[in-house]
Amino acid sequence: MSSPSHFGVVALVGRPNVGKSSLLNQILGSKVSIVSRRPQTTWREIDGIYTDDDSQLVIIDSPGMHQRPERLLSKIANQSARGAGSGADVLCQVIDARYWRAEDQDVLEHFSRRESPLWLILNKVDLLPSRDRVLPRIEMLREKHPWGEIVPVSAKSGYNCKNLSGLLGAAVPEGRAGYPVETLTNTSPRFLAAELIREQIFRQMGDEIPYCTGVVLTTFEDKADGTMEIDAEIWCETVGQKAALIGAGGARLKNIGSAARRQIGLVFDRPVSLSQRVKIRKGWAGDRRAVASLGYGE
Ligand code: GDP
Ligand code: MG
Repeated sequence: MSSPSHFGVVALVGRPNVGKSSLLNQILGSKVSIVSRRPQTTWREIDGIYTDDDSQLVIIDSPGMHQRPERLLSKIANQSARGAGSGADVLCQVIDARYWRAEDQDVLEHFSRRESPLWLILNKVDLLPSRDRVLPRIEMLREKHPWGEIVPVSAKSGYNCKNLSGLLGAAVPEGRAGYPVETLTNTSPRFLAAELIREQIFRQMGDEIPYCTGVVLTTFEDKADGTMEIDAEIWCETVGQKAALIGAGGARLKNIGSAARRQIGLVFDRPVSLSQRVKIRKGWAGDRRAVASLGYGE
C-alpha cells in the first residue's frame, strides 16, 4: 500500500438503530464496532481507522442519543453523542432511507450548527421496495438542509459503501496518515473484548435483559503460548437477571461464553480462554465510579 495523502476525522451521527455501527463495520470490513438489533448498545465512542491508497480516515461511531437520560449511564452516553463530531472534518448524519423521523430532525438541528460540513447518508436502501425509490427520497431530503453530499448506501449488502469511503477520502484535508496503515481501531483492546462479550449477552438474551448489563474484565492477558486469557465479570442488578443470564444448568452463560470466545478469537486472531462470573451490583449504572471502571466514562 502506498502512503495515503489525505488524513481526516469523520463522525457518524444519528438516532439509534439507523445503522451507524454496521456502516463502520462494513467500511472497515471487520468487527470493530458492536452491532446489535437492540438500540443503545453502543455506550461509548468507538473509533475505526480506514486506510486505502489515497486516504486514511478516523471514523467515530457515536452512541445513539438516548431519549430519557434519567440514569447516569445514559447521561454519559448522551454527553458523548452530543459532543461527537467536535473537530470532525466531515459529519455524516446516518438515517434509515425509509423514514425521516422527529428524532432525525433533532439530530439535524443539533449538528447543523457545527462548523464541519454535514453529509446525509441514506442507509438501508436494500429495504426500499425498489431501486427507483432512491432518487425521489434523495430529492425530498435535499430540501431539509444544504447537505455537503447525499449518499445512499446499504451497510448490510455493502452497496455503495466503497464509493462513500472514496468520497470521504477526497473530502478530508491533505496530510500524512496519523496511524500505521494496518491499524483498525484506536479503541483499547480490553474495552473491545468486553464489548464483544456484551454483544453476545444482548444477542442471546433479547428483551429478557435491560441494557444496563456491564462487563468488566478482571484478567486480559496475552500468554506466551500465543493464546489470550480473559476473566470476565458480568454485572447485573437483580437476582432474577442473574438467574436469566446463567440459565438452566448454566446453559445460557455457556452459550454466551462460547459465542463471545469465537468472536474475540476472530477479532484478535488467536485462541481465547474465557471464564465468566455473573455478579449482582445493585444500582451500578447510576454509580459514577462503577461506570467509569468499566470504561464508559471519559
Ligand atoms: P446504530 O444504532 O445506528 O449503530 O445501528 P446498528 O448498526 O446497530 O444497526 C441497527 C440494526 O439495523 C441492526 O439490526 C442492523 O443489522 C440493521 N442494519 C444496519 N444497516 C442495515 C442495512 O443497510 N440494511 C438492513 N436491512 N439492515 C441494516
Ligand atoms: Mg451503534
